[in-house]
Amino acid sequence: MGSVQSPIICNVCGFDEAVEDYCYKTGEIYVFCPRCGYSKDVYLDRDEEGNLIVKNGEFQWEISEIKAKGVIIVQGEGCSEYISIPFDKDRQKAFRKALIEIQKEKPTLKIIVKPYNY
Ligand SMILES: [Zn+2]
Repeated sequence: MGSVQSPIICNVCGFDEAVEDYCYKTGEIYVFCPRCGYSKDVYLDRDEEGNLIVKNGEFQWEISEIKAKGVIIVQGEGCSEYISIPFDKDRQKAFRKALIEIQKEKPTLKIIVKPYNY
């Protein structure tokens, strides 16, 4: 897929098995911590059609950094997905509701909640 994954230390909780995904074609970086749910996305800005945006002859970099309250692991057939638990209480509630709905629709999914407190 044109990217290299390597383990790094999470700069939020210190977990040493956070993952850095580095795309060597574009230089984009995605970091995710499976313990506290922290994620950092350093990416090139694109327009709605997916084309890179250039301003004054330079690509536009965006950084999005999200701290979380742990992770939820959704395990299905042969795959598992990590989702960060939002900090905000209202968003947490909405999130929980959505998960319950998902599980109703797909009862074979296993949902593991791993909160993390600082
Ligand atoms: Zn972490």
